[in-house]
Amino acid sequence: MKIAILSRNARLYSTLRLVEAARARGHSVRVLDPLRCYMRIAAGAFEIHCKGRALRGFDAVIPRIGASITFYGTAVVRQFEMMGVHTPNSSDAILRARDKLRALQLLAREGIELPVTVFGDNPDDTRDLLTMLGEPPHVIKLNEGAQGQGVMLAEKRGAALGMIEAFRSLYANFLVQEFIREADGADLRCFVVGDRVVAAMRRQAPEGDFRANIHRGGSASAVTLSEAERATAVRAAQVMGLGVAGVDLLRSARGPLVLEVNSSPGLEGIEAASGVDVAGAIIEFLEQGRGPQRRPPRRV
Ligand code: ADP
Ligand code: GLU
Repeated sequence: MKIAILSRNARLYSTLRLVEAARARGHSVRVLDPLRCYMRIAAGAFEIHCKGRALRGFDAVIPRIGASITFYGTAVVRQFEMMGVHTPNSSDAILRARDKLRALQLLAREGIELPVTVFGDNPDDTRDLLTMLGEPPHVIKLNEGAQGQGVMLAEKRGAALGMIEAFRSLYANFLVQEFIREADGADLRCFVVGDRVVAAMRRQAPEGDFRANIHRGGSASAVTLSEAERATAVRAAQVMGLGVAGVDLLRSARGPLVLEVNSSPGLEGIEAASGVDVAGAIIEFLEQGRGPQRRPPRRV
């Protein structure tokens, strides 16, 4: 196969590993900076160029689209799709997962358990909104936050009201969730490829924090998932339409709860913690050519 990896940085661990795994399986591979890809759109005719050269003959594209370039990056992925190039994660699926509220709505519609979540626009509604959620503690999350930044715990109702007021004055979008205390500062990262979890790790928050993100000083270790955890992770990825996904779960008294579905999950932490060749699993999945969204482009 001729494979393109859309990544802003060819030296990132995840990108390097995907290149290595593709070459090890005899494929040709090119890393393309999505911001250096430009497109020509005409009736029934699509072209992509990169740094002065036309991109042709690719069989598959692996999108690694960071949150900061979601709009342009997904346009590039879509252009590849229009040209009939296979991708494990379609532009639509990436957009679905990126919008946290939309993702939670879609998961909940399919009966997937998640921390109960509320959101609203008008300050006049804040008190009633918190009443809808139930008793504190509450977790307040900025929609644009990543790696645990902008995720806060409000132990008391007064603290929640204060934080929400502060966010509103900054015109920040946020959602409020029930606090899952029994998760005990840990979460599970499940790396889903196709219809199975190929690797998993448990992340534990540092002493005194409830956020298990590695960027917040969390530590990762290997973990064995329950059947219910595996099934929930795979189902969540499928609802989003993602062939490759990092599904974050909390262990709660009522079973696994989905926190988030990540469309460009990092490989470094998970390969180190689990010892699994995750990059190899992704390339193998491409070889099977069965992304969940493989249908010809429709004329709308
Ligand atoms: P980000 O996308 O910034 O990583 P998350 O929603 O994944 O934000 O939250 C960061 C961390 O905070 C999670 O990994 C988890 O450890 C903790 N956390 C998030 N939401 C809850 C919650 N409702 N109850 C308990 N802990 C939570
Ligand atoms: N971007 C990382 C990932 O998707 C998140 C790492 C973290 O802070 O937990 O795997």
